[in-house]
Amino acid sequence: MTPLREPEIDVVVVGAGLAGLAAARHLAAHGRTCVVLEASDGVGGRMRSDVVDGVTVDRGFQLLNPAYPEAERVLDLDALALRPFTAGVLLAGADGQRPVVADPRRTPSALASTVRSTPGSRLQQLRFAAYAAGVGYLPASRIKDGVDTTIGETLRPFGEITERVLAPFLSGVLFDDSRTTSRRFVELVLRSFVRGTPSVPSAGMGAIPVQLAQGVDVRLSTPVRSVTATSVTLEDGSVIAARAVVVATDAGAAGALLPGLEVPRMNAGTTWWHLTDVPDSALTQGIPVLVVDPDRRGPVVNTVAVSSAAPAYSRDGRALVASTALGLEVDEADVRRHLGLLHGVEVSRWDTVAVHRIAACVPAMPPGTPLTREPTYDGVYVAGDHRDTASIQGALVSGRRIATALLRSG
Ligand SMILES: Cc1cc2nc3c(=O)[nH]c(=O)nc-3n(C[C@H](O)[C@H](O)[C@H](O)COP(=O)(O)OP(=O)(O)OC[C@H]3O[C@@H](n4cnc5c(N)ncnc54)[C@H](O)[C@@H]3O)c2cc1C
Repeated sequence: MTPLREPEIDVVVVGAGLAGLAAARHLAAHGRTCVVLEASDGVGGRMRSDVVDGVTVDRGFQLLNPAYPEAERVLDLDALALRPFTAGVLLAGADGQRPVVADPRRTPSALASTVRSTPGSRLQQLRFAAYAAGVGYLPASRIKDGVDTTIGETLRPFGEITERVLAPFLSGVLFDDSRTTSRRFVELVLRSFVRGTPSVPSAGMGAIPVQLAQGVDVRLSTPVRSVTATSVTLEDGSVIAARAVVVATDAGAAGALLPGLEVPRMNAGTTWWHLTDVPDSALTQGIPVLVVDPDRRGPVVNTVAVSSAAPAYSRDGRALVASTALGLEVDEADVRRHLGLLHGVEVSRWDTVAVHRIAACVPAMPPGTPLTREPTYDGVYVAGDHRDTASIQGALVSGRRIATALLRSG
């Protein structure tokens, strides 16, 4: 690579995940020349999609909530052709019942089953409805400014609703079932679920970073070995100077580049993608809904026919199912046994299209974790979901936040 020197580049950004791309776009929009250096062979970091044998698989099942304020701000949501899932869950319990418990405002057809099948006493149900409305619609400052505690403690008063619906659902969102995550963070996530309908772009989650990268100067397969406040050294030894440097890597890589930076524990998860031998209509009656097990009879924390929401993910009219378990050491035989119970069909002929074992899915956020951190460390700007909240929203907003701080500094 030709060495690049000041004044050619104002800012070098390390990492082309959501945070790095969001930072670079904001800086470029304000007239700064920016280069993004990415170690891997594509943009997106933890949000990438592959096409395997004609089937689209995301690297780990995930959803975009279009109600994330930063997603609304920086993404062209129409161009992503978002395909929504039902705002609720299907409870596939040991009793053989399979009710859909969903927000009746958005899924009126689920009103009867939601009223009939939401667990807990009437009082707990009413209390939870009031809690969810407050989390969803009162000012976000009430969530952010309140005293922090664990989400387990916060949700305990809702009894069976927590045990059989909220906890199983949240374990798949947080990649953690200890219920020790920060109340403030989880309530911000719940707020987005109350306000928006989780979706995937028709062409896969990877379409999101691809859209963000449009017009951004990204150099792929360019790993950075070390950084200072005004230069980066590549693995091949060449040095790039700039007026400012942004480290927008995942937390572990940021800690390696910036010794002493606080690095959170990361939660791990595994996603299986199965191309089934049945159409979408044979699973969850064709309803695009996340299936969870209120009785926790196996390792799967959620499973969903992604193709029932986004048919273009699959081929030949066969349902494509994504199923996630916590951790990395999960046996596919156990997963298949559990999937048989959850979907109520024979799964032995389902083809495994891809398995994604991801050691670092999202940063753990115990109570007291700041919702936003200092923009710089040792003179280097630092962005990423570990600097704000452990989410797409957190990654995107951290990029703009540090870009704004950088622009203010002159
Ligand atoms: C399986 C899974 C499911 C998820 N589900 C959801 C969900 O449903 N909703 C939600 O809101 N969030 C979800 N998330 C979290 C969300 O994807 C992340 O918070 C977000 O993508 C993080 O973006 P980032 O830019 O902070 O970091 P990353 O995406 O990690 O980007 C960092 C980039 O830096 C690059 N890099 C690292 N080191 C170097 C180096 N030395 N030199 C150059 N480049 C380097 C990496 O290759 C990478 O491209 C999920 C994550 C996973 C993995």
